[in-house]
This record gives sequence, C-alpha cells and structure tokens, in this order.
Amino acid sequence: MDVDSNPQRGPAFLRHSGQHVLLVEDSRMFSTALKYRLEKELGLSVIHCPSMAAVRTIFQTDAPEFALAVLDLNLPDAPNCEALDYVISKGIAPLVFTGSFSDATRDQILAKNVLDYVVKDSPAAMQQLVLAVDRILTSGKTRVLVVDSDLDSLHKHVGLIAKQRFQITAVESGAAALEALDSNSGIDMVVCDLDLADMDGFALLQEIRQRHGDDTVRVVGLSTATDRMVAARFLRAGGDEYIQKPFLEEEFNSRIFHVAAIQKRVQSLHRIAARDYLTDIYNRRYFFEAGPRLVDQAVRRGEPMSIAILDIDHFKRLNDTYGHEVGDVVLKAVARRLKHRLNDRHLLARLGGEEFGIIFHGLSLEAALDCCEHLRKELAAQPIIADGEALTITVSAGLAVIAERETFDNYLNAADQFLYMAKHAGRNRVFSELSLMSALAS
Ligand code: GH3
Ligand code: MG
Ligand code: MG
Repeated sequence: MDVDSNPQRGPAFLRHSGQHVLLVEDSRMFSTALKYRLEKELGLSVIHCPSMAAVRTIFQTDAPEFALAVLDLNLPDAPNCEALDYVISKGIAPLVFTGSFSDATRDQILAKNVLDYVVKDSPAAMQQLVLAVDRILTSGKTRVLVVDSDLDSLHKHVGLIAKQRFQITAVESGAAALEALDSNSGIDMVVCDLDLADMDGFALLQEIRQRHGDDTVRVVGLSTATDRMVAARFLRAGGDEYIQKPFLEEEFNSRIFHVAAIQKRVQSLHRIAARDYLTDIYNRRYFFEAGPRLVDQAVRRGEPMSIAILDIDHFKRLNDTYGHEVGDVVLKAVARRLKHRLNDRHLLARLGGEEFGIIFHGLSLEAALDCCEHLRKELAAQPIIADGEALTITVSAGLAVIAERETFDNYLNAADQFLYMAKHAGRNRVFSELSLMSALAS
C-alpha cells in the first residue's frame, strides 16, 4: 500500500549512503573535519584530494561516479580556479567554498554553473557546507511544478531549479498547471509567475487550495509587480512564499529549498499520523479522512468502487487462549498478508481491534467479491506461526458497492450489515448484494 512505498524519512546517513563525494581542499585540518562529518552524518564516501595534481591523478585511475564535488577555490597549485574548471569538465557539479570572497568572485563562480558556494568566514561555515550537501542530495525527492506563460522566464526558473536537482514538471498556463496537479503526478510544490496568460496567479492559487487543500502542495509566487500589496495579497490568500523579480540566484534557491524542506516535513508528519502503530497500514483516522474523498471522486468519474469490512472470527477466544501478545502477532500477520495481496490502487486500513477496511478502486462488484473470497480462503489455508504455535484463523467480510452519490457512512453501514449477516450465517464467509441475490434465487 501507499504507506510503505513512502517510508518515513530516516536519518540522513540512510539517505545518502553509497554515494561518493570528491573533496578538494588543501587545509589538512578543515578537510579532515569535513570528511569526517560528511561520512558520519550523511553516510557519504569521501575521496579527498589536497591539490590539483591529486585531482588529476584520481581521474587518471578508476574514479567512482561522484554525486558532487566540494571544492576549495584556492589551491597552491591551482590559483585561478583551474580545479573548478577541471571538475566541471569531468561532468561533476561542484559546491564551492572559499576563504577570500568578493562580488567579482561570486559572479565568476555563479557564471560557471556551480551548485552553491559557502564562504569560510566563520566557524559556522562547516555546518553550512554539510547542510548544503545534504540539501542537494535530498532535492531529487521533491517534484516542482513550474508555471510561467513567458517562455524565457519559464526556462530561467526551470534551469535554476533543475541545477539544484529537483524533479521538474514545466507548464505554460494555469489550466495546464491544474491538469498536472489533478493527474496525481506527485507534485510537492508549485512555483508560478502570477502574471499568467490564461488566468491570474491569485485565481490559480485559489483553485489549487480548493481542489487540493492547504497541505498537499506548497505554492510559491513570483512577480515583477512593484506594488508591495501584491506580495501581501498572495501570502494572505494562502501562498507559502513570494519572490520579487528580479531576484538574486542565492535568494531564489534559499526560498525554494526552505519551502521544499517544510513540505517534506509536513508530508512526513502526515504519514506518521496516517499509520496504525501496530500493523503499519493506514489507520482508522486516515480511512475516514480519505474514504469520502475517494468515493466522491469515483462517483464523479464513473469508476467502479466498493467498500469491504473484514473481521477476524472469534478473535477474543484466540486472545483468551494464547494471550494478547500472540493476538498482536496475528493482527500484524493478517495486515501483512492483506497488504501483500492488494495493490496501491486500493486503500487498506485497520479500523480498530481485529477489523480491517478495504476500499476497492476500479474493480466491479464481482471482481471485488472474488478478491475478498480469495483473501478469505488464503487466510484460512495458511496458519500463522506465533509463539511456536501454528494458528489457523478465519475472517468474515461484508462488501458494499458504491452505486450513486450517497454518504460514505451509508456505504460503510451497508458493509457492516453484510458483515453482521456473514457472522450470523456461521462466519468464514463474505456477504454482499450478490450473495443475497444468489441466496434468494436458489
Ligand atoms: P466475532 O467472530 O464475532 O468477530 O468474535 P470476536 O471474538 O472476534 O469479536 P469481539 O468483538 O467479541 O472481540 C474482539 C476482540 O479483539 C476483543 C479484544 O480484546 C480484541 N482486541 C482488540 N484490539 C486488540 C489489539 O490491539 N490486540 C489484541 N491482541 N487484541 C485486541
Ligand atoms: Mg471478530
Ligand atoms: Mg470485531
């Protein structure tokens, strides 16, 4: 199910392990400390070169593929950025740090297409470097939708965002932006110019908030408007960040990274809040939050959908006989088996106790019933091993088809009624409209 395809973001060392970084720095003290931190905190493999000559040697031998280079601008044997040019010529994006810094150096560095730069002017510089490396190696997990009707400006923004390694979808109109968001392409944030050809940026923001809520996607607006009220209006209308054009590359990057980081944290909190602590599938709260939306969507699109409630038979007896802990092992095993059998289109949740809810998406009633029957038979046929015992369990289920615009609760009640009938009829069976009809026919 969705929950597991999106594991909670683990510690940084899990995120970047297996990736190589080239560190070019002549100061022994600084390079030792930085190498240590990049390896220990980010899990990276760092190859250190103290000079330009050492860099050349690395590339004459079997150099690994570098995720990026961290590079000191001034080396004794490369006083004029030769190491920077050399690394870029090898197709490696550099993150530059330097002790001597001026406006001219800045312009020179940015013109060379470096990822970012950090000035070694305080003890905090090392921390900034580690964070910059982490940020760049993490940004590939965020998809940004760039919206701009002006092609030059669209290319410029796409170029800057792509350089920071975000995933990108680019569109030229508000309508195309809404379509991209509707098609569920995993967009985390929108960066849009407020002056669009087909709709104004405020209307787009309003439509995004209406369709997708406040939390699923973050929206950054850009504008050349000199009226300060434009920024204020955009932020008050629910925009997350505003960038005044023209901007400095550093400001643009910082704001984009900041918003992306917030979005990842919000998503991670949502994922934690949506999980059942015992079985790690979705919980009741999420089922009741997402269910009505899914039903609405299916009715609107004319897609088949049905809801099942599945309950373990005589679970209390099992608890009483083997103890609560064995009961928990059984609950986990059942959840795992259900999850294994159901693909990402369907929503599986633990509704409480030994009761599970499934929303079947895109299956006819017959197909959903087949699936329930299959799950029921499989669970009954394969004992669960807990505490050295092979425990055979059975389940009963009720299945209700979504036919027209009724409330989610009504459908759930119907499934519950069918479940009650299945229990009453002797358990270890699935009941739905279809089973009732065939019972009446016979
Ligand atoms: P039926 O076949 O009619 O469904 O009978 P049942 O015994 O399964 O149903 P009942 O609702 O009487 O009992 C459910 C039991 O589930 C009672 C409760 O102790 C147990 N239970 C609820 N939550 C948990 C849990 O998290 N872990 C364990 N081990 N047991 C739980
Ligand atoms: Mg039960
Ligand atoms: Mg029950």
